[in-house]
Amino acid sequence: MKCELISVGTELLVGDTLNTNVQFLSRELSLLGIPVYFHTTVGDNPKRLEEAVRIAFNRSDLIITTGGLGPTQDDLTKEVIAELFKKKLIQDEKTKEDLLQYFVNREFTMTPNNLKQTFIPESAEILFNPCGTAPGILLKEQGRMIIMLPGPPREMTRVFEEAVLPILKHDNNQLVISRYYNLSDIGESAAEDRLLDLIDTQVNPTIATYAKMGEVLIRITANGNDENEMNALLDHYEEIMLSRFEDNIFSFSKDSLQITVCKLLLEKNITLATAESCTGGLIASQVTEYPGISKIFGTGLVTYSNEAKINLLGIKKETLDTYGAVSNETAIEMCENLQKISQAMLCVSVTGIAGPDGGSAEKPVGLVYIGVCFDGKTDVYHYHFNGDRKVVQQKTANKVFHLIRK
Ligand code: ATP
Ligand code: MG
Repeated sequence: MKCELISVGTELLVGDTLNTNVQFLSRELSLLGIPVYFHTTVGDNPKRLEEAVRIAFNRSDLIITTGGLGPTQDDLTKEVIAELFKKKLIQDEKTKEDLLQYFVNREFTMTPNNLKQTFIPESAEILFNPCGTAPGILLKEQGRMIIMLPGPPREMTRVFEEAVLPILKHDNNQLVISRYYNLSDIGESAAEDRLLDLIDTQVNPTIATYAKMGEVLIRITANGNDENEMNALLDHYEEIMLSRFEDNIFSFSKDSLQITVCKLLLEKNITLATAESCTGGLIASQVTEYPGISKIFGTGLVTYSNEAKINLLGIKKETLDTYGAVSNETAIEMCENLQKISQAMLCVSVTGIAGPDGGSAEKPVGLVYIGVCFDGKTDVYHYHFNGDRKVVQQKTANKVFHLIRK
């Protein structure tokens, strides 16, 4: 099966939007063993879009388009493809019901142009969109498949994973089993380096690494038709992963480090409190992204100025004068005083220099102290993070979650 991707949207051509859909789909397809031979990007222009689809249809068996399925005038993908293959657009009652419900659930008033999204080319299959208004569409034509997906990446990935993947796996006539390893405290290139021998020779299973700031997700995917055999192969790779990344693996799922830590604290019923200076509440904010976290998280202080450290946390003026706000001593006192105030079992304090100003030869930008108080014992760690202000803050937050997990 030869595949071609067509990205539709003028915003992609003029550089306003980075084409992340094409990266996601290319990866997913190659992991399925479906080769992608062409990427085409075309603007919201019916003539050029028709030309792109016609060319693709002549050289590929599977064509996946993204974008242009929405309610507005410039959303033309479905109309152009329907016309090219002489298909009438017919309103689908179930899609209409879903759409009306979508607006009721969100207490929005639906504008009439939205109904455009309920018209589907005759004989096409509808690919349900659980988080948007435009469904995906599958059209089979002369032994080829054309799959139209919505443009917004969040919707595109959900429709692909929930509606398209099962069809492709079935059509490919094989099983696909993936295992995930989420690593912290290691960069993508360092992680890849430790896997080079396997990546260089990979056929089955395939290994893919995805980097997010401070985390690397590794997916190992086996293809085949004997589930036991595939699992045995994956077990063998799991042993390798455990031996090479013993200190780094924090989850065996796609869960981020923050989510993993929040789940862990909830599971063990460990209460948490934070006192942040240079991260300005970032850690508390990431903790509170997790629903239900109020069971264990009650206090997140931001004590940015010296006055706030003194008035809110009771830090001794003497400590600040003698050692400075960014110091081992201040981090300890922040942490221990926070424990008295919050009574939390696990307390974390952060004080550092996020930059770009405020550094000195002795205390350069990127110097961060993290205090962790657990079970009556306080440890302080210090780091020199590289990067701009935002990067230093994010690296600090990641390090905090990494330390808590341990
Ligand atoms: P909508 O219902 O939102 O109009 P749509 O299916 O019509 O969805 P588009 O209008 O083409 O899709 O794109 C909607 C948004 O999705 C764009 O503004 C852009 O931010 C994002 N988007 C579209 N295509 C891509 C892509 N290939 N990569 C990343 N983002 C994209
Ligand atoms: Mg649109």
